[in-house]
Amino acid sequence: MTATVIDGKAFAATVRAKVATHVERLKAEHGVTPGLAVVLVGEDPASQVYVRAKGKQTVEVGMASFEHKLSPETSEKDLLALIDRLNADPKVHGILVQLPLPSHLNSDLVINRIDPAKDVDGFHISNVGLLGTGQKAMVPCTPLGCLMMLRDHHGSLSGMNAVVIGRSNIVGKPMASLLLGDSCTVTIAHSRTRDLPGTVRRADIVVAAVGRPEMVTGDWIKPGATVIDVGINRIERDGKTVLVGDVDYASASAVAGAITPVPGGVGPMTIACLLANTLTACCRANGLAEPEGLTA
Ligand code: NDP
Repeated sequence: MTATVIDGKAFAATVRAKVATHVERLKAEHGVTPGLAVVLVGEDPASQVYVRAKGKQTVEVGMASFEHKLSPETSEKDLLALIDRLNADPKVHGILVQLPLPSHLNSDLVINRIDPAKDVDGFHISNVGLLGTGQKAMVPCTPLGCLMMLRDHHGSLSGMNAVVIGRSNIVGKPMASLLLGDSCTVTIAHSRTRDLPGTVRRADIVVAAVGRPEMVTGDWIKPGATVIDVGINRIERDGKTVLVGDVDYASASAVAGAITPVPGGVGPMTIACLLANTLTACCRANGLAEPEGLTA
């Protein structure tokens, strides 16, 4: 079997187009422009790239983008004061603090200072609790993107066996909650899981969020299963730096029914879902109908 490629790049473009159409309607019919504030503390090169890409795509879908670049020495008091100002600003519907923060800043304290209604990353403890109890939440962008692709590919996920490899707060756990919400039978695997290949082999849906290059090989995959590869790993191959996932694409795509590539799979969906979450937050803040298909 040769797997169908789930094209995250193309799917992300359709999500952005849907967001842009809705933003235009909000502006024309309600005089409201969704706004996203991104806060970057320090000069981490990877974070700078992400923040630039987020700002560019925010503007491209017609939203207002507010970038706050702070020095690496910024005090916790000043950062919290900025978040308080953004919480109170009616032009700002979404707030994202780029992680990781410099080590002198307490990430939990900072994230939990964001108004949960503006927490478009879905990391605030209130949103974690809402998602965990099946209530309306702001949902973390990467797992939301994975869920959208799975729903688009399968329609209903009800009754499917899903194995999520990885139990982080930003990917693995929320992914498992979302799959459970769609009535999958969910297993969360991690570094202490016994017989990981055997566990994965039972899955109709595999989500790999581990951070280990090409760890999941074709012989772990049940024939016809859907494989979502969240991993982003830079490795040296043939004298070049290349980007690979947590799944060995060559062997897995020979067995799976469908698979996301790296790059061009989950990655592009993450920013698209950030824009979708900002739109959702704006609609909720203004008591307007939320766009369909852009939330969990
Ligand atoms: P974390 O490091 O926070 O979590 C990794 C998880 O993998 C942990 O739960 C860990 O288990 C588990 N794990 C590690 N080694 C093994 C192993 N040998 N067998 C089974 N499980 C293992 O990573 P993140 O969740 O933040 O990210 C995971 C990957 O996804 C990374 O490659 C990251 O770059 C990528 N990523 C991609 C995004 C995108 O937009 N595409 C967004 C976010 C992340 P334990 O808890 O037991 O230690």
